[in-house]
Amino acid sequence: MTQSSVSLVSELQRRNSILKRLLDVSLILNSNLELKPLLVFIMDAVCEITNAEAGSILLYDRKLDELHFEASNSPGTSPERLAQIPVPMEGSIAGQIVRENTPVVLNDASLDPRIFRQVDESINFQTRSLLGVPMAIKGDIVGVLEAVNKKQGEWTLDDRASMLILASQAAVAIQNAQQSEALRGALQELGKMDKIKTDFIAIASHELRTPLGVILGYASFLQDESQGEASEHAAQVLNAALHMRTLIEDLVNLRYLQMGDADLIFEKVQVGALLSAAEHDIKSLVDAKGHQFKLDLTHGDFIVNVDRVKIGMVLENILNNAVKYTPNGGKITMLIEPRPREVWIQVIDTGIGIPQDQLEKIFDMFHQVEDHLTRSYNGMGLGLAIARGMIEAHGGRLWAESAGKNQGSTFTIALPQAQLTGVLDPSKVNAK
Ligand code: ADP
Repeated sequence: MTQSSVSLVSELQRRNSILKRLLDVSLILNSNLELKPLLVFIMDAVCEITNAEAGSILLYDRKLDELHFEASNSPGTSPERLAQIPVPMEGSIAGQIVRENTPVVLNDASLDPRIFRQVDESINFQTRSLLGVPMAIKGDIVGVLEAVNKKQGEWTLDDRASMLILASQAAVAIQNAQQSEALRGALQELGKMDKIKTDFIAIASHELRTPLGVILGYASFLQDESQGEASEHAAQVLNAALHMRTLIEDLVNLRYLQMGDADLIFEKVQVGALLSAAEHDIKSLVDAKGHQFKLDLTHGDFIVNVDRVKIGMVLENILNNAVKYTPNGGKITMLIEPRPREVWIQVIDTGIGIPQDQLEKIFDMFHQVEDHLTRSYNGMGLGLAIARGMIEAHGGRLWAESAGKNQGSTFTIALPQAQLTGVLDPSKVNAK
């Protein structure tokens, strides 16, 4: 091999190792490494690729208009010590790089007046040569990447190009870290708010129960003991207090569901029996609004393993809504739809309907399609959140469908069919 081909091969090998190192950095960058070790990895790559004694990353603090060392691998220096030395925008190379947004190449820095000597003095280091490039995130300069003291010869164009690549990788790493830091902060904040809300619900529902019990007791006593107008007034107080008790029960139920503590008492029951009981409970409200009600059991009856009281509560809620959100003289149908391994209970109304973009949101706590302040229906927006939580606690699903405004709504409860294989005689199932 001739002398020139030997040097060509070694040049190719050198370039190959630079590319490999740059590739390593981007691979590491894409893995989920913490910011600090990632920056140290980039510093080491700076030294290896540019053959420098040390590398540093300085971040620009816009508020204080100065730079701070974020990472450095200067031999014998503690990064914590460096972090405490602010680097001014005027009178430093890093400041010049940020101000002018251009790389600076210094082959002889020993006497250069632009070097901020305070850093060298504090860490007992001597900057002899320096190659610094700006780091930018989406066009905004966020800091500077520096290679210090070339071990042999002068900085090359390759060094400069590699530093620019490493600077953009360091910028991405810093941006990722800043974003996840901001996200962590927001999540923490959200967690705090959620706790305040949960605590509030717990305290309010608990503290309201006692005085409400007193009101209920005395209102009922007064109703019994008084006559005429006084008795009517007492009845009104009693009704309002009963309504309030329902609201408090909703809050308590919600809390239990949120804690995953729904406390269900399972028993095997026939769906038809559950629906007939619900029909009976809702009858007076249906009649009061002149609705037509149909319970359709023609697709057969099935057995489910459920907490009868809790499912009754869910059905009552959905039926109440169907009655409430359907103008007088509407039609409400409740039916059973058999599915493989599941039984679907559907409540179909001819009411005001639900806009497409609200079909999921209505299951969020306190969410109501109408604005809280101007709404013409009463309620707290908790019923469906509780209903869905309750059905999910039974291993089922609950969802809504509607063709839109004034097109009516269909609510479907999907419950797993009970496993009966030879264990239970369906005729002996609790169908009370
Ligand atoms: P509430 O009825 O107390 O407001 P829910 O959680 O039961 O709370 O229901 C949430 C919202 O879903 C209601 O405010 C209403 O906007 C909408 N909604 C529920 N059921 C129906 C229905 N059958 N038809 C139309 N809208 C409904």
